[in-house]
Amino acid sequence: MTPHSLPSTNWEPSCEQALIDMVNQTPGKSPRMGYDCPICRNKEFVLTLENGLRRAKSCSCLRIRQNLTRLKSRGLLELYDQRTFERFQTPYAWQQQAKEAAMTYADSDLNRWFFLSGPSGCGKTHLCTAIASSLILSGHDVQIFRWVEWASNAKGVVTDAAAYAALLEPLKTCQVLYLDDFLKVQRGTSPTAADIRLAFEVLDARYNHGDKPVILSTEFNLRQIAGFDEALAGRIVERSRGFAVQIQGGSDRNHRFASG
Ligand SMILES: [Zn+2]
Repeated sequence: MTPHSLPSTNWEPSCEQALIDMVNQTPGKSPRMGYDCPICRNKEFVLTLENGLRRAKSCSCLRIRQNLTRLKSRGLLELYDQRTFERFQTPYAWQQQAKEAAMTYADSDLNRWFFLSGPSGCGKTHLCTAIASSLILSGHDVQIFRWVEWASNAKGVVTDAAAYAALLEPLKTCQVLYLDDFLKVQRGTSPTAADIRLAFEVLDARYNHGDKPVILSTEFNLRQIAGFDEALAGRIVERSRGFAVQIQGGSDRNHRFASG
């Protein structure tokens, strides 16, 4: 090292690094929002040495805690604690296969969508919630909407262009979108033309930005969705290739698993 490249501090670099390591390894306060961060030990910052200068940077757990705070404000935090991959029971082969597909997706680079269809009570919301939790805990910004409530609100303001656009905006632009019970309607009825238009507008916007992942849980399989609207089903089929899981059948024992 030439004299000119010496850092402008009186400390030897190794001493400075030792100080930084010591601070980084010192535990902070008790974990906020219950998230125990192995990186900053709950101080929410980490020190680094850059060109001989000590710098403090925000830790990635800040984003995770923001996500958890948002879930809590919507009364969803408890749900997300309960619906984890570990808690998903798999006495039948189709459950194990569906769980494996969901875990593979959660660990993927998210360049696809995840589609899970099946009858009420088959665990599709549990698995999709577990994917969302897993992504939140790895620092992704996941926006979660229950289709029935959200679609009802959107249809109610369809004549107010500004309010309508404001309701659709977060679904079109968020990093990861999870739509729970996609296209759900009252038993014995089908989604209306207004429902399909709404679904298409949101998914088409995300389709046109190939890197915008979507997680869909729904009681309708892809053939039924194609019956409602071929273009809508076509986008889902194309983007969820390899992660389209369809559970069919009556009783738990007789469910069948299909993946494509
Ligand atoms: Zn941290």
